Amino acid sequence: MQYVSTRGLAPALTFEKVLFTGLASDGGLYVPEQWPVFGKEELLSMTRLTYQELAVRVMLPFVGTALTENELTDLVEAGCLSFRHPAVAPLKQLDCNRWLCELFHGPTLAFKDYALQLLGHILASILYRSEQRVVILGATSGDTGSAAIEAFRDCAAVEVFVLHPHGLVSSIQRRQMTTVQADNIHNIAVTGTFDDCQALVKGLFNDVSFRETMNLSAANSINWGRIMAQVVYYFWAVLAIGGPFRTVAFAIPTGNFGNVFAGYVARAMGLPIGLFVVGSNRNDILTRFFTTGRMSVRPVVQTVSPSMDIQVASNFERLLFEIYARDGSVVERLMTQFYETGSFSIASHSLKDIRGLFHGCAFTDDETKAAIAQVYAMTGELVDPHTAIGIAAARATLVESEMPIVTLATAHPAKFPRVLREATGQQAALPVHLKDLLHREERFVVLPADLAVVREYIRLHARR
Ligand SMILES: *Cc1c(COP(=O)(O)O)cnc(C)c1O
Repeated sequence: MQYVSTRGLAPALTFEKVLFTGLASDGGLYVPEQWPVFGKEELLSMTRLTYQELAVRVMLPFVGTALTENELTDLVEAGCLSFRHPAVAPLKQLDCNRWLCELFHGPTLAFKDYALQLLGHILASILYRSEQRVVILGATSGDTGSAAIEAFRDCAAVEVFVLHPHGLVSSIQRRQMTTVQADNIHNIAVTGTFDDCQALVKGLFNDVSFRETMNLSAANSINWGRIMAQVVYYFWAVLAIGGPFRTVAFAIPTGNFGNVFAGYVARAMGLPIGLFVVGSNRNDILTRFFTTGRMSVRPVVQTVSPSMDIQVASNFERLLFEIYARDGSVVERLMTQFYETGSFSIASHSLKDIRGLFHGCAFTDDETKAAIAQVYAMTGELVDPHTAIGIAAARATLVESEMPIVTLATAHPAKFPRVLREATGQQAALPVHLKDLLHREERFVVLPADLAVVREYIRLHARR
């Protein structure tokens, strides 16, 4: 399997190369040259597999010759050991046709673990074999950072630098990153927003000499390996509730669009998915886009769902590439326009096509809390504010009555105690392995949103 850039100019790469590449040299994102497709018979044969077995079947076509099936199986099993539920991604029924897929049973209690635990093992094994070292650099609005840190904390061949917006992530989220005492883990609090952090990371990747001397690699959702691993739970959920003979809709609390795009990939691979409901908070750029066809940036506002406080959804470029029939020159033109002017529009016939498959909904903080309270009143379930936006979005969308809808529960309710208390008067307990989190020692530096300063810090602190 070869991978091509969404902007059409960078050279095609193998799976191994793509895992370490982050942005393509033309500024685009890598995607597989074509989507592997499973027929109905094949899907049917997957219905009784464990999560681990299913993960191997779904990911194997993307891996090419980089790993054998046995090697991939071992890595998937190792990657799933840290999940604290035997089903890995259990489904829970909310009412007769509505479900939750709980994606918070990993070590850091957010769905990012589902990709990063697997990717951590795959990267470590490839590095070990090739005797390389890399610096993994990422920006986080809360959950990616801790998931990356947990995935690589024991990997001697990897140095991890994580940028988070200073003061804008919850104290539990911050502590999950800053209390990991390992020499290869470096936390940088940037005085700015998540978009500033993301811009710094992009800037560092675009500095070719820095990228090459440091051997920089990304753990952001622009990394293809993460999208690939996230495709698995879409198969898991659809096959558990009647696929391949039943078409299923998904409601997805969305920030960088990585999770939604993984669902799009699952559908391209033959999985019967009828609709993607894209849930947002007041950072509603995607809702406005799916309504008007115009992508237009506004300043980031802070909400009770901080992992979605994002305006520039970096993975959206991958969908754009699909919308324009994989014509990289169109993507290049639109993205250049976007970075120069802050907006672009797509043609009305393209908008019509994607509106058949995507529906955007946005909610205020009060609406989010009301959704938490309502789910609690109806089912006794405590859900986190991100998940609540997914549930509210599912409810606000007209879905064919035959079609079940699965909301992806992207974080554990215990990560957001204040909001939960305000909405329900209740508190979800932290799982046992994090019970003493609030008493562990923290380690991080505060740096300005200045490319040269951050670059120098990394240069000085990456061990050789
Ligand atoms: C990262 C995150 C999201 C957004 O996911 P994207 O793939 O960036 O769209 C939603 N909810 C939670 C809890 C997250 O950590």
